[in-house]
Amino acid sequence: MTDTNTPLDFSYETQPARIVFRPGAAVSATPDEAARLGLRRVLVVCGSRGEGTARAVADALGEACAGLHAEARMHVPVEVADRAVEAARAAGADGCVAVGGGSAIGLGKAIALRTGLPLIAVPSTYSGSEMTPVWGLTEHGAKRTGRDPAVQPRSVVYDPELTLSLPVPLTVTSGVNALAHAVEALYAPDASPLVSLMAEEGVRAMTQALPLVAAAPGDLDARGWALYGAWLCGACLGATTMGLHHKLCHVLGGTFGLPHAETHTVVLPYALAYNAPAAPRALTALARAQGGAEDVPHALWALAGSLGAPRSLAELGLKETDLAVAAEQAAGQPYPNPREVTADGVLALLTAAYEGREPSVDA
Ligand code: NAD
Repeated sequence: MTDTNTPLDFSYETQPARIVFRPGAAVSATPDEAARLGLRRVLVVCGSRGEGTARAVADALGEACAGLHAEARMHVPVEVADRAVEAARAAGADGCVAVGGGSAIGLGKAIALRTGLPLIAVPSTYSGSEMTPVWGLTEHGAKRTGRDPAVQPRSVVYDPELTLSLPVPLTVTSGVNALAHAVEALYAPDASPLVSLMAEEGVRAMTQALPLVAAAPGDLDARGWALYGAWLCGACLGATTMGLHHKLCHVLGGTFGLPHAETHTVVLPYALAYNAPAAPRALTALARAQGGAEDVPHALWALAGSLGAPRSLAELGLKETDLAVAAEQAAGQPYPNPREVTADGVLALLTAAYEGREPSVDA
C-alpha cells in the first residue's frame, strides 16, 4: 500500500536471470534454455533422491548433456564440491544444470564458483537458492557462505510438476523457509518498494497455497501457486540482506546440525515476534498478506502447526544446554536487524522456540 508520507530513499539492483514457469517445463523448456545460453555440453547435477527427475531432464537435453552427476548433499561439503568440479572438467562441460532442492542448486553454484560455468536451475523445493548469488560450502563442520554474481543461475526453470512428489511435511517446512526470506526482506536495511511488493505477494501466495497443498498434495494449481510464492520469496532473498532470523538458523544449522527448512519453520514466529516492535511497516504488510491477521507471528505459528509442522527446537534435537551457546553466537556477530540484538533477548527468544511456546510480541 502506498504511504506517501514516507520519503523514498533506496537502491535496487536486478541480476540478469530468465525465468520460465509452467507445468512440464523441466523437460520441455530446459533444452531451449541451454540453447539460448549457447551451451552444447552441460553437466546435470542432482542429489541421489532426485536422480529420476534429473535423468528425464538429461534425456531431454540429448546431445547437449555431457553427463549426470548425482552426488549433491546438504550444505555442500567441500569434498563433494571438489568431485563435482572434477566431473565437470572431465566431461568438458560448458555449463551446468542443477535439478533439485537447495542442496542440488548449491552444488551447481559450487561448480560455477570454481569454474565460471553458467548455471541453469530447475528447483524442486521452495528454498529460493535459485534466485540468489549466494553460495555455501562446508568444511571441517563449518559452513562458509559468500555472494558472487558468477553463481547466480542465468536461467531458472520452474516446473510445478516437479514439486508434486514433495511430501507434505517437507512442503510445509520448505514453504515456511520461503516465507522467512520475504519476512526479513520487508525490514532489511536494503529493502526497496519493488522488493516489498514481491515479499507481500510471495507471503500471500504461499500462505494461501500451503493449506490447499496439504489438503490435496496432487493439486497442480495449488502446487503452482506455492512455487510462484517461492520464486518471489527467493527473489527477495537475492535482493536484500537477511537479519536475526537467518542468523539464528545459520547458527542452529551450522553449529548444532539442525535440519534447514524445519529450523526455519520453528524459529520464524519467534524471530518475527522479537522484531515486531521495531518493524511496524513490515508487520502491516504481513498482516495484509495474511488476510488482515491481527497477530502476525501467532498467525504464522498457527498456520505451520495446523499443517503438522514441528513446533519446538527440542523436537528437532537441540539440547537445553545448547541454548546459551547458540544465543551467544547469534548475538556475538549479529546480521543487520531492525531491533537491537542482545544476548538476553536472543536467549529468551530461543528458549521460547525450544519449548514451542505460543509466540508473543513484547515491546
Ligand atoms: P534439500 O535440497 O536438501 O532437499 C531436502 C530433501 O528433499 C532431500 O532429501 C531431497 O532429495 C528431497 N527433495 C527435494 N525435492 C524433492 C521433491 N520434489 N520430491 C521429493 N523429495 C524432494 O533441501 P532444501 O531445503 O531445498 O535446501 C536446503 C539447502 O539449500 C541448505 O544447504 C541451505 O543452506 C541451502 N540454501 C541456500 C540458499 C542460497 O541462497 N544459497 C537459499 C536457501 C537454501
